[in-house]
Amino acid sequence: MRDEPRPHDDVAALIPMLRRVIGARVDDAATADDLVQETLVRVLAAAARVEPGMLEPYAIVTARNVVASLWREQDRHRRNRHRVVDLDLPDSPDQDLLASEERTAVAEALARLTDRERATLLAHEVSGQDTRSLAAEQGSTAGAVAAQLNRTRARLRVEYLLVRENVEPPTERCRPVLLALSGGDRRRQREVDAGRHLLECDVCAQLSQPLMERAQPRDDEVRIPISTDADIVAARQAARELAARLGFARTELTIIATAVSEVTRNIVRFAGTGEVVVELVDRPRRGVQVTARDTGPGIPDVEKALADGYSTYNGLGLGLPGARRLMDEFAVVSEMGRGTTVTMTKWCGER
Ligand SMILES: [Zn+2]
Repeated sequence: MRDEPRPHDDVAALIPMLRRVIGARVDDAATADDLVQETLVRVLAAAARVEPGMLEPYAIVTARNVVASLWREQDRHRRNRHRVVDLDLPDSPDQDLLASEERTAVAEALARLTDRERATLLAHEVSGQDTRSLAAEQGSTAGAVAAQLNRTRARLRVEYLLVRENVEPPTERCRPVLLALSGGDRRRQREVDAGRHLLECDVCAQLSQPLMERAQPRDDEVRIPISTDADIVAARQAARELAARLGFARTELTIIATAVSEVTRNIVRFAGTGEVVVELVDRPRRGVQVTARDTGPGIPDVEKALADGYSTYNGLGLGLPGARRLMDEFAVVSEMGRGTTVTMTKWCGER
């Protein structure tokens, strides 16, 4: 039995934040309560479509939209007070016109990509050329081409929305935020402080909702939520399978799987919950990178925890020092009370 966190719990945890966001915009307490509930209903309904970990930015945007639609409604009532008939009929747009506008928007968004981005994307999506043969043409690797395609798709989605909504991003921070949301890249979202920007920027709050729903999972990355021993096995297998694509030798696959086991076991034992992200990287060379994050108590003395012979639990396993010896790159960042992130990489073809 897996102990999957229920979307319901995650959504309920958003309530204090939603009260702050909505309370800052709506004076009347009863109306604010209604809007918090309306937001929760919408977020809950969308929870399954939203990328894991994207629920909070999604909820921020939903809250803003719920408040904005209340304002629009009030404004419409004010403007239409003199009318006998409510003219707010449901839209019945000309379907052909709509289709042709969509095509124009796609064409313009494509024109905003670089020549190389556009050529690779069209070769892949329209001509059906696979990443391996694209890689051979470009003197690159299939993994690198796949990662580039994902970045290009993320950019295309952003540019398409900007064209379709006919908006120019008002600040220099907008595009980086929208790209981070579009690519579903949470590390990048933190770097650009996407959650804060969504609170401050009307344009991005309006545009980002479809981006968060549409972001596609990458095929060169696997995310495993960690809370039980069964998740340790899942993380180990995922790392092994992904690394096998790069042509690691069997012994190296075992080494990678062992290191993943160790850092994942640390999460289960000391933090309770967290996640492991395994991804293929191509810079500075090909390899597999593992990021293990938790929101546990943190490690008081990282130096000591990494010292050889130090085992965080008695006698069993290799602990962090063992995992460090097994991998080529290894870094630990820990903050007391906030959690620990271990990042480790194994390069392909290195001894
Ligand atoms: Zn913005």
